Amino acid sequence: MAGSLEDRVAFVTGAAGGIGRQVALDLGRAGARVAVSDLGGPALPEAVAALRAAGVDAVAAPCDVTREADLAGAIDAAVARWGRLDVLVNAAGFQHVAPIEEFPTDRFRALLEVMLVAPFVAIKRVFPAMRARRWGRIVNVASVNGLIGFAGKAGYNSAKHGLLGLTKVAALEGAAHGITVNALCPGYVDTPLVRNQLGDLARTRGVPLERVLEEVIYPLVPMRRLLSVEEVSGAVQYLVSESAGGVTGAPFVIDGGYTAQ
Ligand code: NAD
Repeated sequence: MAGSLEDRVAFVTGAAGGIGRQVALDLGRAGARVAVSDLGGPALPEAVAALRAAGVDAVAAPCDVTREADLAGAIDAAVARWGRLDVLVNAAGFQHVAPIEEFPTDRFRALLEVMLVAPFVAIKRVFPAMRARRWGRIVNVASVNGLIGFAGKAGYNSAKHGLLGLTKVAALEGAAHGITVNALCPGYVDTPLVRNQLGDLARTRGVPLERVLEEVIYPLVPMRRLLSVEEVSGAVQYLVSESAGGVTGAPFVIDGGYTAQ
């Protein structure tokens, strides 16, 4: 498939989910060969089949990103298959909403494992392959919750703030080797991750479920709508492009005006 990413190889975590799946598809449409990584449930082969149906050279890379050996092994398998690795997108994630006093410590730890420790492990593993070709693009899917706080999201906010710190350090260490590392900071995107937290938000904010978007989320977002996965993926496609070669260590905000206020 010809395109701006022709011959490039990409590894995308969370690629059976809302954002990761669209990102993987768009990377493939631009010509990249894509290792589609997610937990080994039925959504993964579906995502791979959708990419292949679009003409993308895609392979399933099942792993739980919190298992270091499995994540490293999945990355190594992509490098072995295609002989290179040029693009890493860390998109695996989940949400847990509860006040700190009720927040289970093991959920807090799990959020950090999936959304901070796993990106660290993945970056560590892809750096040698990127350095070898003096070219690499790493996008950590963070969040506006990596820039500002949100009551009830202690684990998520801590992980995403940490991910911005990791992004800066990795950017500094990659800078001399042609590797850029950036953090994408979306606001609310219409995916299962957001839809699944509406019930918790309704409970913690004391509003009826059917009013949560209107009463809790839209008042925060000047555009008064959820972002689409296509809009978010578009920003990732820019960050992995040649044109973005001078952009590194940066938060890239796409939030409908959320943090402009
Ligand atoms: P999603 O729930 O649709 O997809 C997340 C994917 O991550 C799922 O497919 C899930 O299986 C996978 N995943 C979770 N734990 C994993 C693990 N241990 N190992 C491997 N895979 C695992 O959610 P999404 O909205 O597409 O979120 C993708 C990323 O975007 C997340 O990092 C999220 O924090 C971030 N984000 C989402 C929004 C939003 O509004 N939806 C906003 C900002 C940032």
